[in-house]
Amino acid sequence: MREQLKAIREEAIKQIQDSGNLDKLNDVRVAFLGKKGQLTAVLKGMKDVAQEERPVVGQLVNDTRASIEKALEETKKKLEEKAREEQMKREVIDVTLPAKKINMGHRHPNNIALEEVERIFVGMGYEIMDGPEVEYDLYNFEKLNIPANHPAKDEQDTFYINKDIVLRTQTSPVQARVMEQGKLPIRMLSPGRVYRSDEVDATHSPSFHQIEGLVVDKGITFADLKGTLAEFAKELFGPETKTKFRPHHFPFTEPSAEMDVTCFKCGGTGCRFCKGSGWIEILGCGMVHPHVFEMCGIDPEEYTGFAFGVGLERIALLKYEIDDMRLLYENDIRFLKQF
Ligand SMILES: [Zn+2]
Repeated sequence: MREQLKAIREEAIKQIQDSGNLDKLNDVRVAFLGKKGQLTAVLKGMKDVAQEERPVVGQLVNDTRASIEKALEETKKKLEEKAREEQMKREVIDVTLPAKKINMGHRHPNNIALEEVERIFVGMGYEIMDGPEVEYDLYNFEKLNIPANHPAKDEQDTFYINKDIVLRTQTSPVQARVMEQGKLPIRMLSPGRVYRSDEVDATHSPSFHQIEGLVVDKGITFADLKGTLAEFAKELFGPETKTKFRPHHFPFTEPSAEMDVTCFKCGGTGCRFCKGSGWIEILGCGMVHPHVFEMCGIDPEEYTGFAFGVGLERIALLKYEIDDMRLLYENDIRFLKQF
């Protein structure tokens, strides 16, 4: 048995040294020390050993096991070290390789148009104001002189959260909120997202953007309105741009008008872009209705003012000659990259 143990030990150590990788090393461990391993088989033969020799043989078996385990452990460490080194070599960074291109993206045409409009009005001394998109019916309609029975309040046109709260259908409630604070005079621009219960098509979307402007001061007249908006049109579409005002109706202004600008494609002679008329409709505007002033706590005998509202998408579509509003919302990078 002594001879057998010696042979097992020598064979085990030889195989351990030759193993070369961690998987093979594990196979060797199982072959000698596992449940059906060679050394385990010897242990099972202990019952045939004479009673008085058992302690000596037992000690021998333990020694053999210990030396095989020691060899296994040492070799395992060496192999692990080697594997780590190889991994490091594999993962070394080649600094001479070309860098990965970082895709930065860029501003959306809506944002480019918005920043342009904001730049023009900030240059004229306007302040940019913000307001809630989930708004009280009171601010969205009532304070803007839109009574309870007005068709704009129909459920077909407006998203209702409950009886008193709506998704704002216009940015005008921001004006009511600012006027209520009573800090006069006011020169403000309130851009933002608005919601209407519309189906999506080339010119409609249930969510779009408006830019609303308001001026309140002593002695403001329709001439101030015309001068301001004519200047705005020239800045936005070029110095040759002419404007004209057509009478219109809005509940919160009186008198009210829609403003057209000369077609920046043909200069007013008529083309496909302006449908032959030479003019393009841009915005709605008017003098703030005295009743709106009263509801917001401003004395209409002392103060006057004007307001206007522009569709941001309309500006972006015109400026970049985009013929379908849906393109602005699809986030197709191939489309957006052009601007
Ligand atoms: Zn034209």
